Formats: sequence, structure tokens, C-alpha cells
Amino acid sequence: MHDQWSFQTKLIHNKHKVDPTTGAVSVAIQQASTFHQQTLDESPEFDYSRSGNPTRKALEEAIAELEGGVRGFAFASGMAAISTAFLLLSSGDHVLVTEDVYGGTYRIVADVLSRFGIEYTFVDMTDLDAVKANIRPNTKVIYIETPSNPLLKVTDIRAIVQLAKENGCLTFVDNTFMTPALQRPLDLGADIVLHSATKFLAGHSDCLAGLAVVKDEKLGEELYKLQNAFGAVLGPHDCWLVLRGLKTLHVRLDQSVKTASQLAEFLKKHPAIKKVYYPGLHDHPGSDIHLRQSVNGGAVLSFELEDEKAVKILADHVQLPVFAVSLGAVESILSYPAKMSHAAMPKEERIKRGITDGLLRLSVGLENFEDLKNDLESGLSTVLAYQ
Ligand SMILES: *Cc1c(COP(=O)(O)O)cnc(C)c1O
Repeated sequence: MHDQWSFQTKLIHNKHKVDPTTGAVSVAIQQASTFHQQTLDESPEFDYSRSGNPTRKALEEAIAELEGGVRGFAFASGMAAISTAFLLLSSGDHVLVTEDVYGGTYRIVADVLSRFGIEYTFVDMTDLDAVKANIRPNTKVIYIETPSNPLLKVTDIRAIVQLAKENGCLTFVDNTFMTPALQRPLDLGADIVLHSATKFLAGHSDCLAGLAVVKDEKLGEELYKLQNAFGAVLGPHDCWLVLRGLKTLHVRLDQSVKTASQLAEFLKKHPAIKKVYYPGLHDHPGSDIHLRQSVNGGAVLSFELEDEKAVKILADHVQLPVFAVSLGAVESILSYPAKMSHAAMPKEERIKRGITDGLLRLSVGLENFEDLKNDLESGLSTVLAYQ
């Protein structure tokens, strides 16, 4: 609906902007597990909150509209959304997964689905020939994440979708880093968009949530059945928090992206920094493809210092970013992949993938650019003083 409106306006004016029974300008938190049934003969829209809840419905409709899909689903976490989508597979199926996939997704594919007879191959999705070479007759899903974590490698969504279609596979895209504000995989032909709504969509480091969106009704029916069967649904209060976060998604991203690209330029020139990874920089290897499928470089960048000692000095010195896992929040978040997201990976594997002991990831929040720059600059000059 409201096709004439921009994304920015749609974030505020969806069909749930006014409660039809009370006029409240906020979706009601329907904290109920069950619903009274007026007659035995009719099945009501809501009967039990695992199957459906009015607050969850508002969020599911909102994300479906924003991603350009027909149906959305809200889950207890990003991993619950991703895991439930994988339940579309059956024993004997094969899934092709991007090699720098989120750690939790790696775990569900390699450690859990494999026990149920689902085969997998991890492949560098920036290499389309490698993708082609690894598609098997039983490949059912190609799973991508772009830009990826933590090196912001870019996968050509259109090219993967084309390969998937030629081979009768579905394409799943984890759109957590970009959000529908910056990248809309369904418009590019993908079948399922997945989100850790814990990150930019909710945006305030205060709730875990996951979302899935499809643009095909039949696939939507199948996913609904799995959501209800598996039961990892998002509670009404957390649905409300995500809805609340969504309203400011555009302004939050606008600000964070602007600061992120300024910081990328600043960091690139700093003598303590060996390398900056940001898909909005023109010397980033995937920037051409990225800027064809996304609005801009996003709000996450990574940079490489000399070694672990330099990382420790910087982390001890900076005052603004919180030092933590996660991303996509109002506060800037500095993460250390070698000891956080990729701690479980053997060091050799990790270094081979470019995730060195000097690599840091910065998710840029809403602080003032000069304040962030000064904070980082002061930390980096301490790093230089010790080198
Ligand atoms: C955080 C994250 C997930 C997992 O989401 P949770 O909400 O933590 O379960 C999946 N994919 C990406 C890219 C993420 O950053």
C-alpha cells in the first residue's frame, strides 16, 4: 500500500499507525497467550499466540511492506529466524553457504543440520565460478550475506539469484547489515530475506529479535507452518520494541552512514592503520557491485592495526564506543573478531580469511562525528607512541 510514499515515510505511516479500537497512536502490546472464542463454529483470527498475536502481526506486516514482500515473520532472535528458514530443507538436500557467514549460522549448518542429513558446502560467494562449480543436483538453497562480517566482502545478489534460478534453488539473504532502508534483496530476485532485528532494525541494544520476509505466498504458507510448528516466536513486548525502533530507522542510518563514511576516510589516512574495509570506499574490491545493489556503504566498517598489542592499547584508550559483540545500535560498538565472533575458528583458518589479530570492527552509532574522530585519534596516537 501507499506505493507513492518513500521508505522514510512508510516507516511512520503503515496501516498500524493508529489503533482502530482506541485511536492510540502506538500499536497495543497484546500481552495474551490465548483468545476467547465467541462461537464454536467460527475459527477466529487469533486463537493462541504461538500461531498469531496482534502485536506480532503488526510487526510482521510492517517488515513485509518495507522489504517489498507479501509476508513477514517475527522470531525470538535472528538465529531463530534463520534456523526456522532452514527447516524448509529435508534430509538429502544440500545447501551452499557463503564462507564468511555469521558464526551462529555456521554452527546451525555445520553442527546441527548436518546431523539431520542436510549436506553443506561453504564457498567464497564473491567468486561466481566457485559458486557454480559447487552447485549439486540436490542443492536447494544458496545462502548469502552481503556485505559480510567482518571484512565487508560483497556478493552480487543478482548474479547469485540467476545461478540459483537456473539450478532450481532458493536464495536466502541475510540482510542484517544493510536493512531494507539500504538494500532490498527481494526486489533483486531473492526468495527469503532474513534479519537479526536485534541490530539496526530494533537499534537500541535492548532486545533480541529475528525477522523473515518472503515475496511468494506459497513459500509464505510453508514458512508460517514452520514458525508455528517450531514455535520460536517473538513475544509481544519485543515486537513492540522492534516496531518502535523501525520508526527511526531512516534517520538513524542516515546519521550513522554519514559518520561511518567520514570515519572510513579518516582512518584510511591514519599511520597506525594498515587497512580499512568499508564498501562505501571506492578502493574496496566490492564497492562497484555493492553500490549497484545498495544505497550506500552502510554503518559498519573494519580496520586493521599492526597487531594484538595495538588493538589492546586502542580498546583500553577509547571512551566512546562500547567494546562488545553486536552492531547496529545508537551507541558505537567496537568489536574484536579474533576474540569475539571468530574465537572458535582455528587461528590458521582465521588468518587465511584475513581476520588477523589486528582487525577491529566498528559499528557506527549516533555520536557526533568530531567526538568519535577525536576519541579514535587520541587512542591511535597512543598506539603509535608504543610502536
Ligand atoms: C547478530 C547476527 C545474526 C544472529 O542474530 P541474533 O539476533 O543474535 O540471533 C545473524 N546474522 C548476522 C549478520 C548478525 O549480525
